[in-house]
Amino acid sequence: MKKEEVYNPSHPDGQNNTIKEPISYDGIGKIGNRYLIPARQGRAVRLKKDQSILIYNPEGNQVCDFFAIIDGAESEFLSMEHTRTALGRIYVKKGDILVTNRRRPLIEIVEDTSPGVHDILIACCDHARYQQLGASSYHDNCADNFRMSLMAINVPIKHVPSPFNIWMNIPVSGKQGEYTWEAPVSRKGDFIKLAAHEDCIVVMSACPQDMTPVNGIGVLPSKLEFELEDL
Ligand SMILES: [Zn+2]
Repeated sequence: MKKEEVYNPSHPDGQNNTIKEPISYDGIGKIGNRYLIPARQGRAVRLKKDQSILIYNPEGNQVCDFFAIIDGAESEFLSMEHTRTALGRIYVKKGDILVTNRRRPLIEIVEDTSPGVHDILIACCDHARYQQLGASSYHDNCADNFRMSLMAINVPIKHVPSPFNIWMNIPVSGKQGEYTWEAPVSRKGDFIKLAAHEDCIVVMSACPQDMTPVNGIGVLPSKLEFELEDL
């Protein structure tokens, strides 16, 4: 019998420019600088305790898969399953504090100019997801953007956590919890401001999903931008 191929969760299934274009060699950003996350790519940035990150949705249609890991202790990370337990619900709002897999506060939603529709249920897209949707060759994906963003600043990771899917619209409305995949309701120029409760490394992926309407009915993934701010 053929031996199963061993899955290596730290290794990307393909590549794009995410791996070549970190914001800096060590992921340290400049306060007040506006950084670009090109469509379909990811970027990592170090965020100090009590600093905030503002993430902008210039076109309004774009979902941001947001991850955070503790700087220097990468086995502790922002965890959606622990956050759902902490909040007692499956939707987030301004004022909420998202927690790690050790149930410690890590990311606080300080400001949100959008109608506030985000997702904390769905795993990020990956190579296997696009193959299931019918892609015949490699397709950019958020799991690989996460891996490449961290490889680009020399931070090793062992697995891909579930992301906080900013602006992703997954209404759960069926009697048995059935949900649907809908276009974002965010608008051009909307932003969300997130504050760090610990030193962490944030990774954002401009989700390259163009096979479902997750990034709008035009299925045209677009760029994101971000800035760092001191309290
Ligand atoms: Zn994605």
